[in-house]
Amino acid sequence: MTGANRGWRTLEIPIRPGTGNPTHCPWGHELAVGGVRQSWSQDYRAPEWLCEACYALPGRTGVWAVIDPAVENQVPPNNVDEYALRLVVVPPTTPVGIGTVRLCLGRAVFGEIRMSLCATDRRAVLVHLHIDEEHRRRGAGRVLVAAAEARGRDFDWTMVPIARDPVSIAFWARLGTICSLSASPRPCSHQIAAGVIPACD
Ligand SMILES: [Zn+2]
Ligand SMILES: [Zn+2]
Repeated sequence: MTGANRGWRTLEIPIRPGTGNPTHCPWGHELAVGGVRQSWSQDYRAPEWLCEACYALPGRTGVWAVIDPAVENQVPPNNVDEYALRLVVVPPTTPVGIGTVRLCLGRAVFGEIRMSLCATDRRAVLVHLHIDEEHRRRGAGRVLVAAAEARGRDFDWTMVPIARDPVSIAFWARLGTICSLSASPRPCSHQIAAGVIPACD
């Protein structure tokens, strides 16, 4: 399903979710101390930043782009853009069914996150996160998790048990500090009835 079907399209510049001026670079430097330069990513059509502290070190560019994960910044599938990194939403076919957000650059899909949202109970279940192997460790997962969270602000979020492979464990262990997802799913009655995840007995 996912797969960058154009090999030359990569997440060459790492990304992070956010808006406004960042306080730290993705590598941990405080920008008020080390210095920062803002520019614009022509590849992604998004704000791009350069950490002066990283840049001064050998073998680093210190460059990253910031993707706004807000719902207003998520577009329907017919709005993909060949020249912009976009969060593309495929809504569920039923109210509490599973919806998908994909990270796309034109027809290249780098990864996707799937979730069920119940507006009545304000319950959200994160069902699946997948980043294509060659696009991992560039921030795509963080951006997709932030995009999913933006769709269920103030919802009670839980997730299905994470895959027990080292990459998944490492990802969620890193992200665990910045998102408040619990490690076992707590679907509401509507989500159980919709078969979003199997009922726990
Ligand atoms: Zn830095
Ligand atoms: Zn419900």
